[in-house]
Amino acid sequence: MDISKPVWRDEKAAKLLGALLSGTVVELKPQIDPDREMGYYYPEAAKVVSISDKELLALLESLAKAGILERVFSEKYIYCPQCKSLNLTPGYYCVKCGSGRIVRGRVLVHTVCQYAGVEEEFSRSGKMVCPKCYQELRSTGQDATSLGVLRKCRDCGEVFGHPAIKWRCLKCGAVVPEEKAMEVDAYTYALTKKEDMRLTLTFEMNHKPRLVKFLQERGFEVHENAKAKGRSGAEHMFDMLAVRDDGVVQHRIAVGIENSAQELGIDRVFSFDDKAYDCGIHDKIMVVVPTMKKEAEALADQQKIKVIQSWDLDSVLGLSLPQVESPGVAESFRFTSKSALAEYLKKRGYEAEQYAVMRGKSGADHTFDMLATRDDGLTVHRIAIGIEVSDTAVKLDRVFEFDDKAYDCSIQDKVLIVVPVLGPEGKRFADRQKIRVFEAKAIEP
Ligand SMILES: [Zn+2]
Ligand SMILES: [Zn+2]
Ligand SMILES: [Zn+2]
Repeated sequence: MDISKPVWRDEKAAKLLGALLSGTVVELKPQIDPDREMGYYYPEAAKVVSISDKELLALLESLAKAGILERVFSEKYIYCPQCKSLNLTPGYYCVKCGSGRIVRGRVLVHTVCQYAGVEEEFSRSGKMVCPKCYQELRSTGQDATSLGVLRKCRDCGEVFGHPAIKWRCLKCGAVVPEEKAMEVDAYTYALTKKEDMRLTLTFEMNHKPRLVKFLQERGFEVHENAKAKGRSGAEHMFDMLAVRDDGVVQHRIAVGIENSAQELGIDRVFSFDDKAYDCGIHDKIMVVVPTMKKEAEALADQQKIKVIQSWDLDSVLGLSLPQVESPGVAESFRFTSKSALAEYLKKRGYEAEQYAVMRGKSGADHTFDMLATRDDGLTVHRIAIGIEVSDTAVKLDRVFEFDDKAYDCSIQDKVLIVVPVLGPEGKRFADRQKIRVFEAKAIEP
């Protein structure tokens, strides 16, 4: 299946699948209707989407091809090769001259003149008279032989047992020999019974749009099937990449989506984590429907991947919005004072704490000039902010010490404000350690 533009993304397909998934429509059966363009149509589907019968059939076929719908043979319809109408009636015709004027009855052959005709031809005012030689027949069996029940052509006189069958089109009047009539197989369509596909569909059509909205409401730009280049040089594909520019840092969340009837294994978690790591993305969410194995869960936990499984999907997506005054981009950041920085972050939904103390993995307590925390309900985003003021250029050791603290506290997003400038060695180090550096001429009180 082409994942870049799945069939269910089509608005009409989505409507139809929505009805099938919810169970309001169970199956789509063809029904004959001579007044419609194809002569038959799908009434249940036509109630849900308003497109032409032909487009609807094409849609059903494409959904069947994608494995979303299952089709079973329903009926063979015969249609007119001239006008495509299904409104045909079968008729019997003469095998010799093709005339439709044929009669059925017991056929008698007059022994004397060899005239062959149906019984009623011989009947004349209560007597039996040969219509050819006008001799009266004494009694059946003596003057005439019965050939049994047969058909006779009134036009050419041919007597035959099996007539030719032809279809007469009630729309255009064409008479079509049996072998020339067109046939079409009509199918009944229903949602696939394959669990994986049903899960994918339910997620894609119900939860995914809500997840996208959830992230958008929190100021993220959401890119689906997004490519990102890793430090290794490899290009990785993420089911979703949520990006928000917070001015001081760019906050990215990688989202992996796993729908499978089988419990998710450790390998999928590993490869997702690997991709995110290569791309330098620290905030990771895995949406797993329906469930994952215990060891996979443990790995996700260890790698700080936020996992949402089917049972908490609804409660997570239903979380109310934290108050954000200006979500996303807005004005670019310029440092003036600590209080202005705190205000700037607050507007973006962060809680900014000055001289925040945090215990690192080593057990040591570290003090940050400022610690900004934002809880999205899905991820907790933290920014360590250091402010270094010097008479001359700020030296490498200051940057090094700041980076060390942040590392010990597992904080990935680092912002260093230097007054007035950062020395070249410090700049190189900051660059390598992905520390965002802002230089300010002075710090306001
Ligand atoms: Zn006769
Ligand atoms: Zn004939
Ligand atoms: Zn016709």
